[in-house]
Amino acid sequence: MNEHTPRARLLLVDDDLILRGMATQTLRHAGFEVTAADCGEEGLRLFADGEFDLLLIDVMMPGLDGFEVCARLRETARGATLPILMLTGLNDTESIETAFRCGATDFVTKPINWTLLGHRVRYSLRASAAAEAAVRNSEHLANAQRLANLGSWEWSIDTEEMTCSRELLRILGREDSSSRTLTAQDLLGHVCESDRHTVRRARDAAAREGEAYQHTFSIERADGQRRTLHEQAEVQRDVSGRIVSVDAVTQDITERVEAEQRIHQLAFYDELTGLANRQLFINFATSALERARRNHGLCAVVHVDLDRFKSVNDALGQDGGNAVLSTLAKRLQGGIRLADVASVNGQRFSSEVVARVGGNAFTILLTDIASNEQAAVVVARLLGAVAQPIEVGEHSLLLTASAGISLFPRDADDAAGLAQKAEQAMYSAKKSGAGQHHFFDEQMNASTRQKLLLGSDLRHAIQAEELCLFVQPQINALTGAMIAAEVLVRWRHPTRGLVLPGEFIPLAEELGLIVRLGDWVVQTACQALQRWGQAGIATVPLAINLSSPSFMQHDLVERLEDVVQRFGIETRQLTLEITESVAMTDIDRAVARLHALRGKGFRLSLDDFGTGFCSLSYLKRFPIHELKIDRAFVRDAANGGVDAAIACSIIELGKQFNLHVIAEGVETAEQSAFLVERGCTAHQGFLYARPMPLEEFEALLIRSNCSRL
Ligand code: C2E
Ligand code: CA
Ligand code: CA
Repeated sequence: MNEHTPRARLLLVDDDLILRGMATQTLRHAGFEVTAADCGEEGLRLFADGEFDLLLIDVMMPGLDGFEVCARLRETARGATLPILMLTGLNDTESIETAFRCGATDFVTKPINWTLLGHRVRYSLRASAAAEAAVRNSEHLANAQRLANLGSWEWSIDTEEMTCSRELLRILGREDSSSRTLTAQDLLGHVCESDRHTVRRARDAAAREGEAYQHTFSIERADGQRRTLHEQAEVQRDVSGRIVSVDAVTQDITERVEAEQRIHQLAFYDELTGLANRQLFINFATSALERARRNHGLCAVVHVDLDRFKSVNDALGQDGGNAVLSTLAKRLQGGIRLADVASVNGQRFSSEVVARVGGNAFTILLTDIASNEQAAVVVARLLGAVAQPIEVGEHSLLLTASAGISLFPRDADDAAGLAQKAEQAMYSAKKSGAGQHHFFDEQMNASTRQKLLLGSDLRHAIQAEELCLFVQPQINALTGAMIAAEVLVRWRHPTRGLVLPGEFIPLAEELGLIVRLGDWVVQTACQALQRWGQAGIATVPLAINLSSPSFMQHDLVERLEDVVQRFGIETRQLTLEITESVAMTDIDRAVARLHALRGKGFRLSLDDFGTGFCSLSYLKRFPIHELKIDRAFVRDAANGGVDAAIACSIIELGKQFNLHVIAEGVETAEQSAFLVERGCTAHQGFLYARPMPLEEFEALLIRSNCSRL
């Protein structure tokens, strides 16, 4: 046994010389190092100077007695936990009690049993070592718990009190609280409103039903800070199976949760701009394309690359370059939203995403676009936003970007493919100079470029008086007399020459210019009628084509009436042509509108008849004067077949409903003869006259006036 405490150092304090000598001998023999003092004062002095593992102190001493020495030792830091054995008289219970009160660890009675003394000392040393280890362990545990942010509580079912560990109080921000017991309500008060109900339910179920649980919730600390906790609870039962307590460990996992969020942020977002990164873009686009596939929607991927960005970095340094990139990222995002609200035909993009995919490269997804051109319009707007001056410190920069556009489903079927083709298109755009955008498909490039150019020219065309009217006579095939004429708009483009309405009317509709254009046509036609009236030139009614937006204007009737009055002509001098498809879009409204127009005296013609889906029942409701057989049926009428049959039935229909029927696109004598034979004598077409400029038509009117005279 000696080997366990070979070097234990003892301090023996006793005034009895013989006892001191024998005890010293015995204990040295037992393997201890012994220092002896003959009085309390000497004992304290020796203790102050040396290192000891155990003290043996005689109770009865002159001067400072053993109790006093023990009490003083206990007040010192080193003496507080040392084992102290008191030497007392046999059966001196009073001394023994006093000794314990003064802090003695144990006692040894006199006369001393010398054989046992060594064992007694050894036992005391071991007990003290164990106690010390226990203290160390609990310190370790507390330390470990603190490091792990691990608190615990124990909820006694009987007392309904929750005893919390120090660490839990620290987690709750209540380390200052004097008591470690809280009420269940108190503890629940820290749980955030949104989680409180769940936490209460779980804790109650544990207390009542004995259900263990674990969950994560948010708390608000005493200082208002929010933290995320993970709590795991178990139930303790007594031997009879009754639940006595719920015990839980509660870990503050805020840092871990934040780290996970940060990892997610790093994995899917660009740190500098906060935009999505390539990975998130692909994920997002993949699901958007899936939706588009189901709905047969059109999408575009745009790759935007800043031109000559390296020179910005060189001039401003990396921080300056970063500031520029952040600004541009915001503009691109803003540009998409703008497009969203102001999209050309009022349609909204259902989703969009802007991603940073390289140092100075961005990828954008446009979904639910109405047409390929619309993608180009949005991209032009984005490049315009990039080109606005950028203020960095006292510098004002002008930058441009090049863009490539790929289209879904036309260019690729998946997000990665579209991104790659958009990037390829961007390189081709870059080659043609800074600030350009290109489609992946070359053909698309050509036609869109033309359309876009034409679109911007068209805005000026109306003010610049580049529009002009052509007029095409309508003839009575039996007599050759002109019975009316159709007004057809043309555009004298300064560089492209005469542009036909087939090319610019759809564009005008797309750009929202069609109503203004229509107004101009009506006014110019009325002006001509006024001029001829004033000049005494007999004229025929003029037919004017009304676009759908014009026809749908709520104040159409008033506006038309107003123009007619302004030019002093009569409403019956105008025939308004609306196409079958316009009339069919909103039938009730169309019927009401047609009634109103007819009430004012305008003639009404249903254009392109036969192409749409106008059924007999609807035709009955439209208060029109005239049916215009579409060119397509006239073209093939003379050859028999289905088209001939349709032409014939339209003519029949007209007779039944007592409507004037006119055939357009009559190019040959055969067609004319066929129509006349079926009873349709009103013809319009190249056979009689091509559309001619207004001035030429005026000359024709004058000539026929003369010939009538
Ligand atoms: P639409 O109303 O069906 O006009 C008749 C078209 O047939 C005109 O074409 C005319 O030039 C063409 N045409 C006439 N006779 C013949 C023929 O014998 N053979 C052939 N192949 N074609 C013939 P245009 O002038 O190019 O106009 C095309 C369309 O543009 C018009 O079709 C009309 O829908 C629209 N449009 C023309 N002017 C206006 C306008 O002022 N306002 C509106 N909203 N639309 C207009
Ligand atoms: Ca027409
Ligand atoms: Ca027509």
